[in-house]
Amino acid sequence: MRLPLPLKLDHVNVWVLEDGDGLMVIDTGVGDERTRALLAETRSALPRRPLTRILVTHHHPDHCGLADRLIEEHGAELLMSTLAHEAGLVLQRREKGTDARSTAARLAGHGLSPEARKSLVENEAQFETLKPGLTPDFTPLAEGDTVSAGGYSWRVIFGQGHAPDHVCLYCADPPGAERGAGASGGVGDGAGGASVGDGAAGGGAARGAGAAAARPGILISGDMVLPHISTHVGSPAAWLPGNPVALFQDSVRRLAELPEDTLVLPSHGEPFVGLRERVAELELHHAERCRTIAGVLGEPRSAAELLQVVFQRDLDPLQLMLAMNEAVAHLEYMTERGELERLAGDDGITRYVRRDDS
Ligand SMILES: [Zn+2]
Repeated sequence: MRLPLPLKLDHVNVWVLEDGDGLMVIDTGVGDERTRALLAETRSALPRRPLTRILVTHHHPDHCGLADRLIEEHGAELLMSTLAHEAGLVLQRREKGTDARSTAARLAGHGLSPEARKSLVENEAQFETLKPGLTPDFTPLAEGDTVSAGGYSWRVIFGQGHAPDHVCLYCADPPGAERGAGASGGVGDGAGGASVGDGAAGGGAARGAGAAAARPGILISGDMVLPHISTHVGSPAAWLPGNPVALFQDSVRRLAELPEDTLVLPSHGEPFVGLRERVAELELHHAERCRTIAGVLGEPRSAAELLQVVFQRDLDPLQLMLAMNEAVAHLEYMTERGELERLAGDDGITRYVRRDDS
């Protein structure tokens, strides 16, 4: 089911699976009243079953904002990775305003202007409504774990770079091939929601008529692979080491090793088939971005100066923060690869310049 978001990216997909006598949801949408009402309304259209489990792909508020209220209402079990849970609680417990102020202070060192920093802090309210809604109790998911629901057996695959230990779920052989034989247009008896059915019909058609024995696998990709937008990479969790751009690329390369006819169910946008092609596009996107950056760093520039050169369009405060984080992540990635040199300015601003010996 598709839930609205109070952002430029205006929706998030939530997947519903049969779970014994109950239902399992994968992600929840944000924690506002509109989402809660919509989710309740949509659920009442489904067979009357209790909500038994909530699996959260990662800690971003559009994926888990409503989890605590659903747990309180239904007594459902929360499943997520330990790092995602930890990251979510950090965000959730942070005092009002501290997030924007610390982000503004960090980005000052990358040349973000005082006006832009002020507007970031003033627009804190834009982010305040967006908080994770997690409970202290949860069932940890680890890489390689199997989650069974409605006859489906899902393997947990961790992804990095967008959020720590982001959970993707892969089902290699969806049930229903023997029972199915044209009886159902959906993914199988276990999955609900119109978009699941639509996507599966496309996936089935792509396989052609000879695919009676096995159905294509299904990947619930969360935010790791999206059909139209490139996943945001680079917002730091200060307590996590690593290079988000490199981590993200490694993760999606691993996902691209799944069978080519895998049906991908993303958190934003429509289900699609063509995982390898999409991952190749994402890699090209990052490579092009690096080339563009290298092209304008013949002279030293800060991340903020780089954004002025590379993205001329107007960014709202949230977009500006994300763009700054992405720019810094790419600059650091390229510095680690020896393509750029990092210069600490006397004015406290970090600048980067191309190393022409690389
Ligand atoms: Zn996300």
